[in-house]
Amino acid sequence: MQKYRKRRKDRQREKRERTGKSGSFITFHGYFVYSCDACGAEFKMWLQQGVEGPEKKQPAPFFIRCPHCGGSSRHFDWTKARFFQPFQVPLLPGTNYFALDEKLGHARPVFIPTSKKETP
Ligand SMILES: [Zn+2]
Repeated sequence: MQKYRKRRKDRQREKRERTGKSGSFITFHGYFVYSCDACGAEFKMWLQQGVEGPEKKQPAPFFIRCPHCGGSSRHFDWTKARFFQPFQVPLLPGTNYFALDEKLGHARPVFIPTSKKETP
């Protein structure tokens, strides 16, 4: 089997998208709204192009860690899900999103902290 070799630049960009390094750009095409069973928080999870939607490459998990309390939150209300024409945005502190992750086999939740200090 011939292995497709990605260019170094592509790999670096994909790593930034996966890990949520602030300052890079990413293409979103919608969001899901998640709700936490433990603290009741509702929050948007933006979807990188390819996560769910019309040209789905990977699914987003139903259950993810709550970025506020660390509890278990879930995608609870499909009527609040939205899809748009894909648009590119800079990754900024406080952005929560799902990134494509070939290693995981499903989308990886990424929470970019609002400040450098992580809450304990
Ligand atoms: Zn919570």
